[in-house]
Amino acid sequence: MDFELPEEVKLLKDTVKRFVDEELIPIEMKTIEGPSLKPEYREALTRKTKDLGLWLLTTPKEYGGQGLSVLELAGFWEEVSRTVALPSRSHQIFGPSVSPILFRLSPEMKERYLFPVLRGEKKSTLAQSEPGAGSDPGMMRTSAVRDGDHYIINGYKIWIPFADAATFYQVVAVTDKEKGSRGGLSVFLVDADTPGITITGRTEHMMGDVTFEIAFDDVRVPVANRVGEEGDGMKHAQGFINTNRIHQACHGLGVAQRCLEMIASHTQQRVTFGRPVADRQAAQFTMTDLYMKHQLAQLLVYRTAWRLDKGIAARHEPYMAKLYCTELGFEAADRCLQFHGAMGLSKEMPIEQLWRRSRSYMITGGPVEIMRTVIARHIYKLF
Ligand SMILES: Cc1cc2nc3c(=O)[nH]c(=O)nc-3n(C[C@H](O)[C@H](O)[C@H](O)COP(=O)(O)OP(=O)(O)OC[C@H]3O[C@@H](n4cnc5c(N)ncnc54)[C@H](O)[C@@H]3O)c2cc1C
Repeated sequence: MDFELPEEVKLLKDTVKRFVDEELIPIEMKTIEGPSLKPEYREALTRKTKDLGLWLLTTPKEYGGQGLSVLELAGFWEEVSRTVALPSRSHQIFGPSVSPILFRLSPEMKERYLFPVLRGEKKSTLAQSEPGAGSDPGMMRTSAVRDGDHYIINGYKIWIPFADAATFYQVVAVTDKEKGSRGGLSVFLVDADTPGITITGRTEHMMGDVTFEIAFDDVRVPVANRVGEEGDGMKHAQGFINTNRIHQACHGLGVAQRCLEMIASHTQQRVTFGRPVADRQAAQFTMTDLYMKHQLAQLLVYRTAWRLDKGIAARHEPYMAKLYCTELGFEAADRCLQFHGAMGLSKEMPIEQLWRRSRSYMITGGPVEIMRTVIARHIYKLF
């Protein structure tokens, strides 16, 4: 049994850590405006990431990307999550966000959607959630009804980031009411300028993110724009969401690492009642608990990523990684905020932003209760 990370993962982590420490953390309090990176930072930082080879990381090598393994991506996401310099859900400086769905398209559809996305000419976003269907896709109402060589889509989507900038949506819709989320959902690539599509609402969130509501009113979509077979929708959406779970787990790891660094530094410097706060058992026990949990969390994420790369990870494993690490990230940010007192609450420091971002990952991409339910189902099969 070898607990060492492979040499290439260590090298990548070192490169990203240096980039984060030297280029991102020093400017992290001034880079973001609303949900976006300010253009002047985006251009300068993108030049640096391209020079470092940190570009199109999730894109397979045959399409000009780095084709990183899940384990390599985990190391990358962990290091990047130590800073709040980049918007919480869009790492534009590492290349356009490319949905894994697009690599499974037919050659003709790749020409129309994948390659323009890789060249930065088109953008897309996943439109799954609905007012009555968030955690439970079985409650989905948006329908896609076959009409000759088209589908007619009617329905309403909510909480969709970047819908205003997207040129097409990956829409999950009901194609078989009876089957529901068990084989009755399909994914369609829908051009944003198709007649019948209206952006009807805009919501700002505590992490700085902005999401949109989209209405679909008799929207005609060619059958060729269906991804895979009819009824495959959950499989495709889940593939997307599973990678997202490891990403969110790594966010928790990165936040916990940064908070350990900040608590250690601050409590050793801050003197109250004649002694540094680090001399108090309250600080020491907090550091011990967080440090141990962080080490355990790293093992859990690296093992899950390694098993995903080998194709042997079971469904509950990414759920465990996301559950444990997102809760750890929030706990660490909360403790860090507490030990910094008023400074922790202020917008002068990144802590309140780490706290708000960590909190959001306990809901988005699947609330922690759903993670617990899926894991419990697995445990009851074991005993
Ligand atoms: C910033 C942001 C980005 C997002 N990005 C996207 C996106 O790209 N595409 C997209 O389609 N959606 C997106 N979403 C939506 C997101 O995925 C949903 O918010 C999430 O799935 C939870 O759904 P919900 O908000 O409807 O909560 P609900 O399903 O209503 O759940 C609310 C709460 O009820 C409790 N609960 C629910 N079910 C159970 C249960 N079975 N057992 C115990 N407790 C339960 C939990 O505490 C849960 O937090 C985004 C949301 C945000 C805020």
